[in-house]
Amino acid sequence: MTTPTDWMKKEYNDLVKNGFDWKPPVITGASSARCIINGTEKIMLCANNYLNLSTHPKVKQASKNAVDTHGAGSGSVRPIAGNMDIHNQLEETIARFKNREAALYYQTGFAVNSGLIPQLAGKEDAIISDQLNHGSIIDGVRLSGVKKENRTIYPHNDMGGLEDQLRTMTKKCEKTLVISDGVFSMDGDIAPLDEITKLAREYGAMTYIDDCHGEGVLAGGRGIGSHFGVEDEVDMESGSFSKAFGVVGGLVAGEKHMVDYAFNKSRTMLLSGSAPPATIAACMASIEVLESEPQHVESLWSNTNYFRKEIQALGFDTGVSETPIIPVMCGESHRAKTLSAELLDHNVFALPIVFPMVARDKCRIRVMMSAGLNKEDLDIALNGFEKGGKSAGII
Ligand SMILES: *Cc1c(COP(=O)(O)O)cnc(C)c1O
Repeated sequence: MTTPTDWMKKEYNDLVKNGFDWKPPVITGASSARCIINGTEKIMLCANNYLNLSTHPKVKQASKNAVDTHGAGSGSVRPIAGNMDIHNQLEETIARFKNREAALYYQTGFAVNSGLIPQLAGKEDAIISDQLNHGSIIDGVRLSGVKKENRTIYPHNDMGGLEDQLRTMTKKCEKTLVISDGVFSMDGDIAPLDEITKLAREYGAMTYIDDCHGEGVLAGGRGIGSHFGVEDEVDMESGSFSKAFGVVGGLVAGEKHMVDYAFNKSRTMLLSGSAPPATIAACMASIEVLESEPQHVESLWSNTNYFRKEIQALGFDTGVSETPIIPVMCGESHRAKTLSAELLDHNVFALPIVFPMVARDKCRIRVMMSAGLNKEDLDIALNGFEKGGKSAGII
């Protein structure tokens, strides 16, 4: 018996055969710096939960309280009947936190990029993107009506390349939009935002910066705009609550008229249910914790600095990382996989990142540092890296 979906079986089997399928481990209980994976306690080195706020008592309590006062669901999309007082309060909190006139909260960061970017440029406009931008930005650009020849990509963080494209595009197009990640998720390097905003201003282009990995991390947690002191220069600063904030959700911050436009135009806002009260309350509590308890960001950075220094001292290459994203370069994929398996034997959970996510010879273990780890945890992890790195022939 064949069915019309048999082709999926074949495609899936091809993924398995080539080792490109996902077999996610099972986390039993909460995601935190140490957690139970496949039945034993592991040191978590690959979650995005940088500040360990997903289990912070104030964040959890806020979530529970909101269920009692506001229920489990919001009832609708935002523009129809799903606009609760707490959605508005969260947005005021985000705007204040980001030092911007206004902010808008979406269900996810992906929903910001895939819903808003398509509304920012049309057929005769241009979009210029960094080569290593996140997939949700790429999808947002694809959904825009911008003609193929007006969608250009500049070499990663190359300001000369960006300027060349700005010169060409602004001459022939009505509006030009420059989009870049703030912190790049595979390498942990930072976009030169001061130069990007300066160039964009010079050529009269708009800027869209996706700061998913900079929020809660750079500039005491306020993100990349604050890090470079150019908050007011970024037209659209997008971000996520699924990383350092430890919850889920997306945001865009900027001028009030941009936020009004985004609310009324983004299809992910207009056609998808608004986030539930427990999530909204947790996001708000998470920002409050970040502001009142600076120790989380401080320990994130002291752990990052210690780990990076020690792993380099063992002979590993950590690429161009400047943030708590620390790629430990392994070369070919089997080396990264061997190292990851050895780490697991030492109760350290860190997944290999292999082709096609990165180039075939740039496979790595991507360490995502956490504020919830202590020196003993880091030393256990380093010991695992030393033993595993030797058996995999990396050091
Ligand atoms: C994680 C991530 C997203 C998606 O954010 P979610 O809130 O998890 O949907 C978008 N852009 C970048 C750069 C990211 O790292």
